[in-house]
Amino acid sequence: MYVILFGAPGAGKGTQATILAEKTGLVHITTGELFREAIRQGTELGKQAQPYVEQGRLVPDHLTIGMLLERLAQGDCGGGCLLDGFPRTMEQATALDEALAERGKAIDKVLYIRVPEAELVSRLSGRWTCRQCGTVYHQRLHPPRQEGRCDRCGSELYQREDDKPEPVRQRLEVYWRQTAPLIDYYRAAGKLREVDGNKPVDEVSEELLAALADP
Ligand code: ADP
Ligand code: AMP
Repeated sequence: MYVILFGAPGAGKGTQATILAEKTGLVHITTGELFREAIRQGTELGKQAQPYVEQGRLVPDHLTIGMLLERLAQGDCGGGCLLDGFPRTMEQATALDEALAERGKAIDKVLYIRVPEAELVSRLSGRWTCRQCGTVYHQRLHPPRQEGRCDRCGSELYQREDDKPEPVRQRLEVYWRQTAPLIDYYRAAGKLREVDGNKPVDEVSEELLAALADP
């Protein structure tokens, strides 16, 4: 099954993808984390992506699509995957459709996690991310058991540079202008399932699992 977790920055895509991946066995692919890893490693892609990621702008489509298609071609994605943070433009969505169609596959479902803008800002400003495994926490809404340490792997937690107020403002503006129009694209294709993301994490997970099971 090929599933897209869709929503604004801070909607809870990463949080829910980790849970859904554990429950369904689907591989979790997150383009944001792939870019951050490339930047940490100092690869050519990382150097090209860095200024965009830091400022909260979208990395150009040719770089993003190339990176994602390379990841999708790896063996562990043969049976499907959970996409988190991709696609974010119409060009990315059509490139994904074409690449899957070449293999006789298609996106099965797009799970849209809907959250009001004021809640997004407060979630992003309190987010803590694990340096090692990428698991996310929130200082107030979803704290780790031990302050500053990941529950899953024990590594250090850090605050992303792009979770500061100016990049957050920029990312939300980019989302509404370039990414939100994809909602209509997937709705027209009959693939969109809307879930209220303004609820506790476990309630959102239950709704998402129900939407996945629903034909
Ligand atoms: P995204 O991947 O969509 O940007 P994240 O999964 O990283 O979003 O979540 C953003 C922040 O909101 C994190 O700090 C996370 O702990 C918190 N969060 C996620 N889901 C919920 C929820 N249902 N209720 C409260 N806080 C949440
Ligand atoms: P995220 O972790 O999903 O919030 O993404 C962090 C940053 O990575 C974004 O603000 C963009 O700069 C970049 N990025 C992630 N996914 C994409 C994408 N699909 N298209 C373009 N840029 C992306």
